[in-house]
Amino acid sequence: MANNPRRGFSHKEPSAGKSRFWIRRNHADGPIEIPAGLITGEEPGPVFSLIAGVHSAEYAPIAAAQELFRRLDTKEVKGQVRFVFIANLPGYRTRSMFVNPTDGKNLNGAFPGDEKGSHTEALAWTIFEEVIKGSHYLVDLHSGDMIEDLVPFVIVKTEGDPKQDQRRLELAGCYPTGYLLNPKPNAAGWNSDGATFACAQASGAISCMVEAGGKGQLDLECVELLVQGTLAALRWAGNLDAGFPPVDGISRAAMDGARQSGSLDAHGSTRPGQREIAELRKVFADNPGLFIPMVKAGQTVRAGDPLGTVYDFFGNLVETPLAPKDGVVLLVCSGPAVEPGTALAGIGVFA
Ligand SMILES: [Zn+2]
Repeated sequence: MANNPRRGFSHKEPSAGKSRFWIRRNHADGPIEIPAGLITGEEPGPVFSLIAGVHSAEYAPIAAAQELFRRLDTKEVKGQVRFVFIANLPGYRTRSMFVNPTDGKNLNGAFPGDEKGSHTEALAWTIFEEVIKGSHYLVDLHSGDMIEDLVPFVIVKTEGDPKQDQRRLELAGCYPTGYLLNPKPNAAGWNSDGATFACAQASGAISCMVEAGGKGQLDLECVELLVQGTLAALRWAGNLDAGFPPVDGISRAAMDGARQSGSLDAHGSTRPGQREIAELRKVFADNPGLFIPMVKAGQTVRAGDPLGTVYDFFGNLVETPLAPKDGVVLLVCSGPAVEPGTALAGIGVFA
């Protein structure tokens, strides 16, 4: 299959087919180049967009998006499935954590972007215009970044409209994770401003964000979790027949997450065993130095429990960060070298 340059999904041919292509734009600080894919089915159906690589050292999502594109066939798909394989390609090619090295900005908070803005802002604008606009459904695949370990979870933003919120929860429930983060309005510590899925939601799509994998590694069980969850989501959305293909078994990572949640109650989630989290409280380093964690992703903690220790450059103990609330360790810093402001852990507070 040729990798032909094209402008984007808004310039797609209406006929059925499967293609890989570049979405390209010029920018003063360097070209914007996004490897993308499109499967247009023979029968009509919704537009479902799958985005990976907003954080470019999050490899399980990138591998999962590529695997799904290979697995799916034009004859099986109804409507249109749009793929962004690697949203932040400058970051991927330089193995950058969190940011686009061209301007040092985090693409995850940059949506809907700015056509005339910095490289990251123009990149976000391009993805918004070419991919997100016109999508009925959008899933943004993430993992822990290069120095983050996490237990798989899915993120939604319910807004008080019962019908739409139910559909958001159903989409999120397609992913076999142990936890569902649904931050309450004005919840401390984390918000979804500028994220793809929140931006898609504001423009009318049903959307969620999924987290599986991390530490700069390619965890194949997490790849499979993301693949199986997305196949379930495509069936739920009507892009695949209800019978295609059966999800046979849930990956061990997901099972661990469900087991560690300690509850099979739904708590508002539509997925049995998926426990709802109301807040993600991140704990940050105050000093530069070396961090040794005392907790693992997926472990439950009580308020005041030590999360690890930070030593200065000479080995003096300078910090013992504590859990701010009861909850589960959704993510923990797996890279020892920390700076003031480095997230050492993220505690999910149960709803
Ligand atoms: Zn991410």
